[in-house]
Formats: sequence, structure tokens, C-alpha cells
Amino acid sequence: MIEEIERCARCGFCEAVCPTYNAFRTRHMGPRGRLQMALLVYTDGNKSRYVVESIETCLRCRACELVCPASIRIVDVITQARAILHGRAQKIPR
Ligand code: SF4
Ligand code: SF4
Repeated sequence: MIEEIERCARCGFCEAVCPTYNAFRTRHMGPRGRLQMALLVYTDGNKSRYVVESIETCLRCRACELVCPASIRIVDVITQARAILHGRAQKIPR
């Protein structure tokens, strides 16, 4: 999953189609930001309010994946981070 995150080119195409990004207009509420929040969860077990808000509010609609030129499995990355936050998966060492 960390390899998926590292392939992000930060182009922002995904943000244009993300309903939560368009509603809140803040990066951590969109797919690009959520990848970075997931990385914090994976590597540090970060459970700050900011991170939790980002990861928990994804609708898993996959609109972002349809436009991502790098074909990143964005929803799988977010789902795994959510599982770690819920104690259903282990933190992933770098
Ligand atoms: S569209 Fe894909 S590569 Fe571009 S910012 Fe979003 S996740 Fe990263
Ligand atoms: S799956 Fe999540 S991050 Fe992707 S477009 Fe839908 S709400 Fe946004």
C-alpha cells in the first residue's frame, strides 16, 4: 500500500471529481490528501483528529480511481488505513 501512495504524482485530477473535496475544498478531504493521511496512519499509527476526519469521511465511491492517471488503488489504501484506525489491522512498517 505504501508503494501505491508513493506513485501519486500530485496532479490533482482526482480532486476535481471527489464529492467530499468539492463539498469542503480542503485537501485532507479529498483523495490526494487522503493518500498522505493514510501514509501517516501506516507509518506512525497517527490518530489525530485531522487524520481520522480525512480517512473516515471517504464515501468509497471510486470516482477518484476512474480519473487517476497512475491507476492508484485509492480506495484500498483508504480502507486499509481505516482498518488500522479501527484496530482491525496492524500498522505497516516502512
Ligand atoms: S489523480 Fe492519482 S496521481 Fe493524481 S493526485 Fe490523484 S491520486 Fe495522485
Ligand atoms: S472514493 Fe473517497 S476519495 Fe475517492 S472520490 Fe470517492 S469520496 Fe473522494
